[in-house]
Amino acid sequence: MSTPIRVRFAPSPTGPLHIGGVRTALYNYLFARKMGGKMLLRIEDTDQNRFVPGAEEYILEALRWVGIDIDEGQGVGGPHGPYRQSERREIYQKEAQRLVDEGKAYYAFDTAEELDAMRKRLEEANAPAAQYNAITRMKMRNSLTMSADDVRARIDAGEPYVIRLKTPRKEEVRLNDLIRGWVNVHSSAIDDKILLKSDGLPTYHLANIVDDHLMGITHVIRGEEWLPSAPLHVLLYRYLGWEDTMPQFAHLPLLLKPEGNGKLSKRDADLGGFPIFPLQWTDPTTGQVARGFREDGYLPEATVNFLALLGWNPGTEQELFTMDELIASFDIAQVHKAGARFDIQKAQWFNHQYIRQHSDADLAPTVQQQAEAAGFSCSIEKAEKLVALLKGRVNFAHEIFTEAGTIFNAPTMYDEAIATAKWNDDAVRAVTVFRDALQSFDGDFLAETIKHTLSDAMQQAGIKQGKIMQAMRLALTGSGAGPDLMLTMEIIGKDETIGRLERALETLKINV
Ligand code: GLU
Repeated sequence: MSTPIRVRFAPSPTGPLHIGGVRTALYNYLFARKMGGKMLLRIEDTDQNRFVPGAEEYILEALRWVGIDIDEGQGVGGPHGPYRQSERREIYQKEAQRLVDEGKAYYAFDTAEELDAMRKRLEEANAPAAQYNAITRMKMRNSLTMSADDVRARIDAGEPYVIRLKTPRKEEVRLNDLIRGWVNVHSSAIDDKILLKSDGLPTYHLANIVDDHLMGITHVIRGEEWLPSAPLHVLLYRYLGWEDTMPQFAHLPLLLKPEGNGKLSKRDADLGGFPIFPLQWTDPTTGQVARGFREDGYLPEATVNFLALLGWNPGTEQELFTMDELIASFDIAQVHKAGARFDIQKAQWFNHQYIRQHSDADLAPTVQQQAEAAGFSCSIEKAEKLVALLKGRVNFAHEIFTEAGTIFNAPTMYDEAIATAKWNDDAVRAVTVFRDALQSFDGDFLAETIKHTLSDAMQQAGIKQGKIMQAMRLALTGSGAGPDLMLTMEIIGKDETIGRLERALETLKINV
């Protein structure tokens, strides 16, 4: 029987989750679901200096909002907990100690000044990269250069120390990335990275590898920014004796600026006026608010669809995917190597598509709330009609009310060009006749019946309807184009319709 697929999303709670992080979580989720595997959530909070209150809750809420269900981990529980790394420190300490005991790691006592001095020396000597490695470590204060007694005495006296990986001098490190293919690195290019810090907490590298192993992770799917760390991780698996069950790696492409050149930044988002976080975030220290996809009016299904296609496509023309369709089509081998352009207009297009698919009843409360906040009385029935009328014209639900402006507000001005071209004798006669017909109208004031009333009235008066429709629209809305006019009249009601027709007759002058 093959090993069950297990993937994890492992964010650090250092602030709001970046939208790229949501894409990473989504690809993990799609892969897990497609393969019948499990999706874990682990919180990587070992860097206490970068811990931000509220960030973990934000991560959980963002995942919930886009519809990523966690099978095991933080917030859900499971047999491999705790899933917050700060609660697992003994586990990492034990493994770090094992590496020291086996001669694969060592204690280092160097102070910040000593490390600085080493860096300077190397820079002056034009060394290719300032590193603590197989050569330089022999000139530093560590358990490789000091006597065992000296080391013990210092530790017993409480002198601060770190544990560093003893990187081999000449070894080939290889990994076969599912997206990038073979990556080969010579161990001389790998630093003697710190595994355990002087506060007793592990660094990201140690904790990440220990947990992926203990949690039975089979595939590590994460952002490209972690590719440079991957050889070190392979080395750690080897040293810890876990290489034969090492997960497979897949490093996802970077998200690029909307114009396509360079990595997407917060500044691009600020300048472009678009969000790069899933949910709005208020910085607990500065009170600064960063906008979110949710609060900006993006629907979760549009956000998911947009993110899914940032770096992957199924190789067909299909663009609209439900989560289930994504799961069915997703293939990690089809993820691109090249960066993915963060085309926010595409996100808006997706939102437009999904707004249209939403039921009128779903979107009506937003419209009703906005209308009432602006001082209009708007029943939920009326709001639903507005949605039906306008949802095809907008990218966001909140734009429906803006679009509804001409419906709620009687015109105060009339489009000059249309008035000049269309407000003529026939138009005046048509509007007058229609007004009269409406005055004697009784029954339900609905688009269908209004339409009949209008065409009957025009027929009786001998007026060609096609010739006067723009003038009729001008009288009712002030402009020459807009949504279905019969529905517009139904929404504003009979009295308002008659009122607007009368005002137009008084205000508009025929240009001769
Ligand atoms: N804690 C890392 C992050 O914030 C996890 C990287 C990984 O998936 O290995 O992205």
